[in-house]
Amino acid sequence: MQPSSDNQPAFFCDAMLGGLARWLRAAGYDAEFRHGIDDSVIVAEALETGRILLSSDGPMFERKVIRDGQLKALFVPRQLNRIEQLTYVVDKLILPRRPARCMACGGRLRKLPKHSVISEAPPLAYRSCDKFFRCNRCDKLLWQGTHWRTIDARLNEILK
Ligand SMILES: [Zn+2]
Repeated sequence: MQPSSDNQPAFFCDAMLGGLARWLRAAGYDAEFRHGIDDSVIVAEALETGRILLSSDGPMFERKVIRDGQLKALFVPRQLNRIEQLTYVVDKLILPRRPARCMACGGRLRKLPKHSVISEAPPLAYRSCDKFFRCNRCDKLLWQGTHWRTIDARLNEILK
């Protein structure tokens, strides 16, 4: 995992907040999430990489590093769906919208000339989309199709 290298806040989501991590990435934030990860590993890695811990796990907040303020952390109330979780985090931390990151890994996206993806993009995507991107971290090819635009519209409602 890469440390957060710029001044943007980066996040570490606990094992219950995978959906939130994906939406934070779409909103332009680096958000780490791993299935089945141990709480103590999350805390150690968040501390080491300067990430803000997002958790719905009450006991997590009794840890000394969080109580001392060494590790910045935000409790995300349970029973919120992922959109409500995102709205909650955005409101609490006053997060502006940033250029979308890869929803799979949080890496930055770089724009590709359309002609360069002709052999790689699915034919339908190639025909119907004009904007293609590659993730700098996981190398995944992405395009602004229906799925992207649906997410984009939701994000516009949540982040001003
Ligand atoms: Zn990626």
